[in-house]
Amino acid sequence: MIILEIEDLHKSYDSNVPVLCGINLSVHRGEFVGIIGLSGSGKSTLLRCINRLVEPSSGHIRLPMGLITANGAGTLVDVVRLKQTELRRLRRKVGMIFQQFNIIKRLSVIDNVLSGGLGYQSALRSTLRSFTRDEKRKALINLNRVGLLDHAYRRADELSGGEQQRVAIARTLMQEPALILADEPVSSLDPKLSGVVLDILKQVCQEDGITALVSLHTLELTREYAARVVGLKNGQICFDGASDELTGPVVEAIYHNDL
Ligand code: ADP
Ligand code: MG
Repeated sequence: MIILEIEDLHKSYDSNVPVLCGINLSVHRGEFVGIIGLSGSGKSTLLRCINRLVEPSSGHIRLPMGLITANGAGTLVDVVRLKQTELRRLRRKVGMIFQQFNIIKRLSVIDNVLSGGLGYQSALRSTLRSFTRDEKRKALINLNRVGLLDHAYRRADELSGGEQQRVAIARTLMQEPALILADEPVSSLDPKLSGVVLDILKQVCQEDGITALVSLHTLELTREYAARVVGLKNGQICFDGASDELTGPVVEAIYHNDL
């Protein structure tokens, strides 16, 4: 089953310099896709177009209607055409994980996780309301899944970077996402902690049938974690294949800056 279908996606920011130039990409449910490319190649822009944190300039981004309505099932709808209410519903099913963790430092770990149930745009609102027993139970279950149950009532900023990113994963799980967009989730972490975080991310995705698009900054991690890899160069896909096809010339083509 297709969970994401991108067709001829273009994006230019205000300066009108093309940043994405005709992206075509299909992703099946449950895939864990690594996105690689030089800094500035368009990885973040691509990920952010998918939930319209960035507005595409043209093209189509289709996701199953079932993510928006209870009875829509697998029929694909174009995200680019969604109205605000539908977009909000869709965003609840699309989790986002950022390089800088984006957790609220002065809140406890569990309050950070609970805020995920509200969608990632309303983290601050969570400080203004109380949560039900069921919500708390779910938050503790998700903290247990990322191995941080013991830290539930600590202040978030007492945790290490790797632990904070695991909090961010638990928070995203509160949304019960169908798709997770992770934008360089381990670029701020050393290789060992990167492995721990990616192990956990991959495991929860497998367990819950979540599809993941994950931009990664090293080839070692990409080869280890992503069965399928999409290479971006100057806003175009220059490689889309199995990570064991990432041989010397392919890597050279992706990372060689010939501008
Ligand atoms: P990557 O994540 O691969 O480093 P980005 O998607 O962040 O690439 O950036 C691609 C290009 O788009 C870069 O040239 C960057 O300067 C530009 N860009 C990114 N975000 C914005 C923005 N908000 N406004 C203008 N230009 C942007
Ligand atoms: Mg980026």
